[in-house]
Amino acid sequence: MKIRVWGARGSVPAPGPEMVRYGGNTSSVQLLLDSGEQLLLDSGTGIRTLGLSLAAAPRVNILLTHLHLDHIQGLMFFPPCFRSDAEIAIWGPASPEASLEDRIARYISAPLSPVEVRELPCSVSFRDTPPSRWRIGSATVVCEAVNHRGPTLGFRITEGDTTVCYIPDHEPVLGTELADLDPEWISGYDLARDADLLIHDCQYADEEYPAHIGWGHSGMSDALTFASRVGARRVLLFHHDPLHSDSFLDRLRGTARRRWEELGNDPALVEMAMEGGELEVAGTALPAGVPA
Ligand SMILES: [Zn+2]
Ligand SMILES: [Zn+2]
Repeated sequence: MKIRVWGARGSVPAPGPEMVRYGGNTSSVQLLLDSGEQLLLDSGTGIRTLGLSLAAAPRVNILLTHLHLDHIQGLMFFPPCFRSDAEIAIWGPASPEASLEDRIARYISAPLSPVEVRELPCSVSFRDTPPSRWRIGSATVVCEAVNHRGPTLGFRITEGDTTVCYIPDHEPVLGTELADLDPEWISGYDLARDADLLIHDCQYADEEYPAHIGWGHSGMSDALTFASRVGARRVLLFHHDPLHSDSFLDRLRGTARRRWEELGNDPALVEMAMEGGELEVAGTALPAGVPA
């Protein structure tokens, strides 16, 4: 599998001269399967430029973790939405309140939008989850509710022996220590177990987190402790706070690598997500922590 990051920012787009390298676009990740199919993880503002790169007559699967604006804002500007030859399937969390289509239509409708969902020329379908496990191309997709604000999913995508887990908005525990907690009390534990790549929320530096407990996001050490507890082999820290400049994120990366090493892992296998960044992900039969 191949991953390309089109937006790594959390909460709100954060463009500007201090944000050039890590980028200002919100959550958008392209996952290319070895079979050639592709899954688009969330549709933050990064999906606009992603859409420009797609070939004619695209068939696209979009997996939405939740409907906070930073994860759907790009949808209305996603070029395939305006092509009659495009087929778009949008998966997202079910809610007792209203269907996925009706909830997305609150954004893609007047007065927030000049077009309505029914006016889009593409062929679009909305798939409320559950199901919690289904096939897309050669991949198996598993979703599970995770702890955030409002109905929110994480996704586990497996193709062959390779697994990528995507949990961009996540607070694995509330008001307790992660290090020794029984796994059944850790949100997202089974979903992320033994992932070859875990893309995970890292909204806050550790010193910022205490003022944001319960906001639905992770401090860096919690993100890495979670990754280590689940046995993730490689970690991409994601959903950067809009206040975090390039130089701040560079320093955070240094801290993250030291922390990941303290947890007994290879510091080269933790990285800050960067707009435009690409990763090849390959599975391994080795248990986590065993040097290859
Ligand atoms: Zn978010
Ligand atoms: Zn959110």
